[in-house]
This record gives sequence, structure tokens and C-alpha cells, in this order.
Amino acid sequence: MSRARIATVWLDGCSGCHMSLLDLDEALIGLAPKIELVFGPLVDAQEFPEGVDVTFVEGAVSSHDDLRLAQTVRARSRFVVALGDCAVTANVPSMRNQIPPKKLLERIYVDGVNVNHRVPADGVPALLKQASPLHEVIRVDLHVPGCPPPAAAIGYVISELLAGRRPDLAGKVKFG
Ligand code: SF4
Repeated sequence: MSRARIATVWLDGCSGCHMSLLDLDEALIGLAPKIELVFGPLVDAQEFPEGVDVTFVEGAVSSHDDLRLAQTVRARSRFVVALGDCAVTANVPSMRNQIPPKKLLERIYVDGVNVNHRVPADGVPALLKQASPLHEVIRVDLHVPGCPPPAAAIGYVISELLAGRRPDLAGKVKFG
């Protein structure tokens, strides 16, 4: 049987949702023969590949780079999971949504420092006007709330999808 091609993506999040995935600990050993991890911060792939079975997306969509990557994920993945409250609701990243990006960046990089009063531009992705939940920019197949979602819930989602079933998350996850 061929292994499922799984990707993980880190948008505007703190990496806590990825840490929760790693908290599966020894259960990862059981999953390893059934999956091929083809993209994400845990592997060295530079470009999001074609033909991905399931992609887990952590974080809100906050920059133009985030938006492009989210659109690529959707175009190349059969099933997309919004993993964690930042992907599901925009959560912490949305705290800046009432402030225009230019004003926000100047407050941090110009008013808020003693040296180099300058908003960085080189290699820094331009912010979108607002941080958005994933489903506002692409179609999402499953929402997994939690900050972060518990490892057991992530493991359950992976196992159910591998078995060809749609996970029923009732009672297994909650916001926050
Ligand atoms: S949902 Fe929580 S743990 Fe996950 S990226 Fe956002 S702040 Fe971090």
C-alpha cells in the first residue's frame, strides 16, 4: 500500500501547533510507515509539492507570502486541515487587525526602538491589511480548534483520514 503524502505548513503562528503534533511522541513511530512527510518545517523541501493527500495548516493568513502559499496548498492538496485557533479564527495574529499595517510597523520598528529606526523591507513579506482565518482565503475541509489542539486529537485526525473516514471531533477539541 502506498504511503499517504502529508504536508504541514506554518503560516502566522507560534509553532505551538507543530509542537503539539510532535507531542504524539512514540505514536509517531506507528504512523511513520503509513505516511510520507513531503513538506513542512520538519523536512527540507523548499517548494510545496504537487499531489499532496492531506495538508495541515498552522497559523493565520497575515502576509502576501502566506496568501500565496495557502493558495498553492489548496491547489495541490486533496484535503486541507486548519490546525489550531490561529488557522481557524485568526486568533492572536488578528489582534493587530484594528491598526493599519504601516502604523503598526512604525510603532514597533521606529517608535519602539533606540537604534536603527527603520521598518525592515528586504526579505520581509509584506503584511496584508488584516490577518485572516484560513477559510476566508481558501476552502478548508476540516477545522481543528485548540491553542494548540491536543496531540491526541491530531493523532486521531491523522488516523481517521488514513482509514478513509471523516474525523468526528465532537468532544475532542475546544477553542483556547
Ligand atoms: S493556535 Fe495557539 S499554539 Fe497554534 S499557532 Fe496559534 S497561538 Fe500558537
